[in-house]
Amino acid sequence: MRKIAVIGTGYVGLVTGTCLASLGHEVTCVDIDEKRIASLQDGHCPLHEPGLSPLMQSNILDKRLHFTTVLQEAVQRAEAIFIAVGTPENEDGSADLSYVKNAAENLSLYMNDGTLVILKSTVPPGTNQAVHSWMQAISGRTFHVVSNPEFLREGSALHDFFYGDRIVIGHSDAEAGQMLVEIYSKMKTPILQTDPLSAEMIKYASNAFLATKISFINEISSLTEKVGADIEQVAQGMGMDRRIGEQFLRAGIGFGGSCFPKDTKALIEVAKEAGHPFRLLSAVIDVNDRQKNLLIEKALNRYGCLKGKRVAVLGLAFKPNTDDIRESPALSLIKRLQELEADPIGYDPVVKSIPLCPVSDSIHEVLTGADFAMICTDWPSISDLPLDVYENTMKEPVLFDGRNCYPQEAFQGRNIEYHSIGRRSYK
Ligand code: NAD
Repeated sequence: MRKIAVIGTGYVGLVTGTCLASLGHEVTCVDIDEKRIASLQDGHCPLHEPGLSPLMQSNILDKRLHFTTVLQEAVQRAEAIFIAVGTPENEDGSADLSYVKNAAENLSLYMNDGTLVILKSTVPPGTNQAVHSWMQAISGRTFHVVSNPEFLREGSALHDFFYGDRIVIGHSDAEAGQMLVEIYSKMKTPILQTDPLSAEMIKYASNAFLATKISFINEISSLTEKVGADIEQVAQGMGMDRRIGEQFLRAGIGFGGSCFPKDTKALIEVAKEAGHPFRLLSAVIDVNDRQKNLLIEKALNRYGCLKGKRVAVLGLAFKPNTDDIRESPALSLIKRLQELEADPIGYDPVVKSIPLCPVSDSIHEVLTGADFAMICTDWPSISDLPLDVYENTMKEPVLFDGRNCYPQEAFQGRNIEYHSIGRRSYK
């Protein structure tokens, strides 16, 4: 078992630290955010992630999981150090590596000889080498940097850590790579060892491919709507082909979250710099931007003007089972509603507030008196909501469903107007 430090206690750092502790390692998680660390030290999990809080607490009790703001304390004892800080987007869309650089430079002040540095943050190809150079300029130690991109999905992060499809380890030193293989040795997940540049590309290419699949089915949904076909039936038929696969074939109001939007843009910048403009991926982003506005277009077609309309926005998180609202399509929809002088009010089972508009955790309250409702996130409390509730609470039961939560047949004989994605409207 190894002594491990994890730098950054966001989604990736906290899940990685907790799960590595569960594998038996002794883990210290470091963050510069004092409030966050104080609350973690008290055993409070800052993320809404199924299963994370109890697992974190049991590892704290077993004294395998610690939290600190003192980098030196964590790094001096560590044999392996994971860098899991954020890599947000710069104004031009490229990845901002300043947090990675800062973490790498600081830890090189304190680390021991022979320490393994593991780059978990999503970074452009060449960053492994850059991190090595930044650290070498400061540290007189010998060390190796391996790339170990993260593939977890928010909402199923623990499952994805323990039962992921693959662990990618990019290294230029077999012994360094082997040390990380051993850290994961209790897991049955297949391990792919590559060179560092390829490991970095695997992460971007995987996210770009998934984003492409989403924009592709969204383009098809615009066509099915025009020709009178049903996107749900089309996606089912496509997904039954194992070469295509059924996942990521759900038409909707576009992808959001803290990864796909920034990682697709970062890859476009990588491609530009490499002298190979990535036209396909630019189109994927364009389609997604248009898709985020789709429910508004449908409402404008229906009403002409949205001024003064009270709108129930159902679901604020960028997807179910998380409280993450980063780049959530719901937020751009709310902003657009406000520009059009509508009066949105949000419902979400876990997101308590947003700066843009009032939020309630009672779906009944939000629907009561609403002129129309827009579904942005398919939380079970939304997709399982009996249709009677819309009929009985709203001023007029008009529903714009951005996640195709309901089958069309459910509206037969009902007094609800239903507009969804890639299917005929039911009036
Ligand atoms: P996050 O923004 O939620 O968390 C980053 C944390 O790092 C913050 O708590 C911040 O305070 C801390 N931090 C920043 N600089 C620091 C420093 N010098 N020392 C200590 N702590 C520092 O980020 P995240 O969502 O966990 O993502 C981290 C990386 O993993 C990103 O590169 C992201 O693209 C990638 N990733 C994220 C996901 C995801 O679902 N969130 C999935 C796969 C990969």
